[in-house]
Amino acid sequence: MENIENAPFLREMIETTSNLYRLGWDERNGGNISYLLEESEITPYLDPTNVLRLIPMDFDGKALAGKYFLVTGSGKYFKNVAKAPAENLGIIRIAEDGAGVEVLWGYTDGGTPTSELPSHLMSHIARLSVNPKNRIVMHCHATHLLAMTFTHELDERLFTRTLWQMCTECLVVFPDGVGIVPWLIPGTNEIGIATSEKMKETRLVVWPHHGIYGSGETMDETFGLIETAEKAAQVYTIVCAQGGAKQTITDEELTQLGERFGVNPKEGYLKED
Ligand SMILES: [Zn+2]
Repeated sequence: MENIENAPFLREMIETTSNLYRLGWDERNGGNISYLLEESEITPYLDPTNVLRLIPMDFDGKALAGKYFLVTGSGKYFKNVAKAPAENLGIIRIAEDGAGVEVLWGYTDGGTPTSELPSHLMSHIARLSVNPKNRIVMHCHATHLLAMTFTHELDERLFTRTLWQMCTECLVVFPDGVGIVPWLIPGTNEIGIATSEKMKETRLVVWPHHGIYGSGETMDETFGLIETAEKAAQVYTIVCAQGGAKQTITDEELTQLGERFGVNPKEGYLKED
């Protein structure tokens, strides 16, 4: 068996958790990531028939039975992932009956996958139903997006329009806009259901007064998606601090932008003339 610490998926996870920590979006044990893996990706490093532990879960994961995920650990700090990956991360397989997860690697101090596992798995199910290539679900406490949930209307259309107007690239990167769920208790099936319902239509879901969920086909794409929205929120913060916008990108210009880059802005989000 090869050393799993050299596995490309593990290197990506280490790099991403380190970057999220460095950016200040995952203080303490904030944030969690799940990465859907193919069996062929993990077999050079571990024997998938060797189940170390079974962890029950009170959510029906049958739709993902037999699927493998690399998942950050519950209560673990992103700050520490790079120096102790096997303690802070784990590779799991969803049990055939969907009632638990089988640990194949990691969580070496007896830990478990993130307490947000229901939100992650439900979001994977939702995204896979619209894009079979989706592999990543990422949650973090992106600072300016979080702050915007106090100062901006929590209306999906208005919130999305503000972000689109703050940087020209935004509409191209997330033409599907931003979903917003009500404030809900983290770690519950309820917030998982609400998040995954939004995930059927958009890859970015805001948790008011908490943070953001993003999803995508690759780690880079998902990180870039959150990074772009967060940058727009940062610009919004500075614009407000400077006294507010005197001009912005018009809806006509946003429409032209969508046409030029071949993306369809979410219907009804721009003013139709
Ligand atoms: Zn959080």
